[in-house]
Amino acid sequence: MIIRNIGIRRCTRRLLSTNIRDESSTNTNHAISNKQLLYTTDAASPGSIFFLPHGTRILNKLIQFMKNQQIKYGFQEVVTPLIFKTKLWKKSGHWDNYKDDMFKVVGFDMSKEEIPHESIEEHEYGLKPMNCPSHCMIFAKFDRSYNELPVRYSDFSSLHRNEASGALSGLTRVRRFHQDDGHIFCNVSHIDQEIKNTLDLIKNTYGVFGINEVEYYLSTRPDKYIGEIATWDEAETQLKKVLDASTETGSWQIREGDGAFYGPKIDVLLTDAFDKKHQVGTIQLDFQLPKRFDLKYVAEDGSRNNQPILIHRAVFGSLERFFAILLDHYQGKWPFWINPRQAVIIPINESHIEKAEELQRKLCGDIINSQDEISPLTGFNFHVDVDKRAATVGHRTKEAIQSGYSYIILIGDKDIANGTFSIRSRDDRKVSNLTGEEIYHKFIDLERSYQ
Ligand code: ZN
Repeated sequence: MIIRNIGIRRCTRRLLSTNIRDESSTNTNHAISNKQLLYTTDAASPGSIFFLPHGTRILNKLIQFMKNQQIKYGFQEVVTPLIFKTKLWKKSGHWDNYKDDMFKVVGFDMSKEEIPHESIEEHEYGLKPMNCPSHCMIFAKFDRSYNELPVRYSDFSSLHRNEASGALSGLTRVRRFHQDDGHIFCNVSHIDQEIKNTLDLIKNTYGVFGINEVEYYLSTRPDKYIGEIATWDEAETQLKKVLDASTETGSWQIREGDGAFYGPKIDVLLTDAFDKKHQVGTIQLDFQLPKRFDLKYVAEDGSRNNQPILIHRAVFGSLERFFAILLDHYQGKWPFWINPRQAVIIPINESHIEKAEELQRKLCGDIINSQDEISPLTGFNFHVDVDKRAATVGHRTKEAIQSGYSYIILIGDKDIANGTFSIRSRDDRKVSNLTGEEIYHKFIDLERSYQ
């Protein structure tokens, strides 16, 4: 398959100015990432991030965190295709309203297509910039009843948007990204509660990261829009009502004409360490896509022609951008639960290596150097290394602190005789003597409480 851009996006003044502001935090992000080996990029795929093993650990933690929250709110995760025929994008409205921000995908060998050659559009695909059409298609595959609603799908697929190459920057302006994307199919009576749930989840999630400076914006009908003005007005009124009623949001502001082409939205903005605002979470109310996909459900009175309303929502928004915000926020000093380097064990000399590896196996949840034939599926699996190098304990401890390990665990003759290990944190020289079991439970408590 080759992927070509459908159109070149204008590099607007707004993008350029954002880019200049981005520079300081992008440079800091690069410096921390280079030191901690978190991610890299390559000219072979501009705007697409290579997450290195330790960066992937952070990304996976964010995803696992959100998967667990979404289960609580009744979401079901789905996995959906990356490429769809042009016909689908025409149906969804993306072709007329979003084509310039998309990539076209065409097979090198057209003869493999089973469709008559005269229908050229059947050979063209678009790489998805959003998950919404896939979720509408899943909703439409089955007969739906009122008592199933709200139906909530979540999706962590990679998405591609054709940002101008001059505007690409670090983790914040990319061509390929992932969202904690979710779509809720519901009726009018559900809207208030669903939006309130999402606002609660947004506030609680950012709170876990110690980010409490949050702003809310209501973005209204843009110049390019689909559907009737009356429907837009109704949706905007509904969102204003929820924002006014929500105790979580405090005050909110309007951004005239900044809505998505299919509906108005609430955007949630964070302020980072450099005083730069980032759009993260979003809640969008959509009466158009359900109509375009002819979505229906059977109501309580047996009538069949009822159209659900679609709520698009994301809490982290782009995981890449949220990653960048966390890099700024923590400056590489990750809290234990999300740290890709949670602990390092330093055996004082060669005779202590066996005990060190035994503890490593325990803290990693029996996955590393497992003595079982097959590793267990669930459990707590901490990222723990053993530093077996011949360097002095002082040197290895200093390097461990510089590398960002949360805990340093020493093991020597005295520890083995006592059946304990000497453990200290990155930030405090105070040493505690704990058994392997006690360390494991200490780590479980830290991870459970997001410390
Ligand atoms: Zn969506």
